[in-house]
Amino acid sequence: MKVINTIEETRSIISRWRSEGLSVGLVPTMGFLHDGHKSLISRAVKENDRVVVSIFVNPIQFGKNEDLSVYPKDMEKDFELCKSAGADFIFNPESEEMYYSDFSTFVDAGDVAKELCGKSRPVHFRGVCTVVTKLLNIVKPDRVYFGQKDAQQLAIVKRMVRDLSVDVEVIGCPIIREEDGLAKSSRNVYLSPDERKAAVILNKALSRGKELVDGGEKRSSKIIRAVSDIISTEKLARIDYVDVVSFPQIQHIETINCQALVAVAVYIGKTRLIDNFITE
Ligand code: AMP
Repeated sequence: MKVINTIEETRSIISRWRSEGLSVGLVPTMGFLHDGHKSLISRAVKENDRVVVSIFVNPIQFGKNEDLSVYPKDMEKDFELCKSAGADFIFNPESEEMYYSDFSTFVDAGDVAKELCGKSRPVHFRGVCTVVTKLLNIVKPDRVYFGQKDAQQLAIVKRMVRDLSVDVEVIGCPIIREEDGLAKSSRNVYLSPDERKAAVILNKALSRGKELVDGGEKRSSKIIRAVSDIISTEKLARIDYVDVVSFPQIQHIETINCQALVAVAVYIGKTRLIDNFITE
């Protein structure tokens, strides 16, 4: 297992693997890895002969006042996690390696990127689609792995791959949680002990939403109200959005008569956390 910083070296290893007839899986990440990332890597290891984990905090997917400059990092720990999960190498480029100073071409996902996180993070998905396109062009994997934790991202990448005829299979993996139900996230490290306790409210509220859906509730307004009411009981929480959208189209729906994504984004103190569930 090693860390590779250049596109050129990555390409040369991949082409050697290709000449040996080996299949390749890619797990794109921003590092500070946890068990959620590990579940993606382990699945990729099961399904491919070779696995590349990319670690790149992609500047173009962060808005001006977001946490790009303070995004957590621990390369030694990430290295050990990738090694123990069975990855073959980490692709860890500098920003300059990925973006020329006069870089000007972006991939725009359209309407699917306009709801939910697209509303509060207007440049985010354009940045995600652009970097994922670059990573797919550099690694040319057979399969690429994304977590349902970022369900809108998963839907957008699947759409982009379909629309642009990219020759890769996009695989979605379930959300991995802490024991108390909080979805694992690199950003959980920002939470103070009190905020960490408060953060459980996202999963609590969504569990109530799921109960309602499982009990036959089809009106989005009822589900949104119930979830929002529970989140509002937590003093440290401030709702960014609670919504019900079609999945994978990501359009707001009034009535659940298709597969739906119930998603929340909530500030706990200054930290913005997201969570969701998808109906059967
Ligand atoms: P990130 O490093 O946050 O960009 O995440 C990289 C990938 O890991 C994305 O596809 C995420 O959806 C996925 N991921 C992050 N947290 C989790 C989690 N708790 N469970 C499953 N997948 C996750």
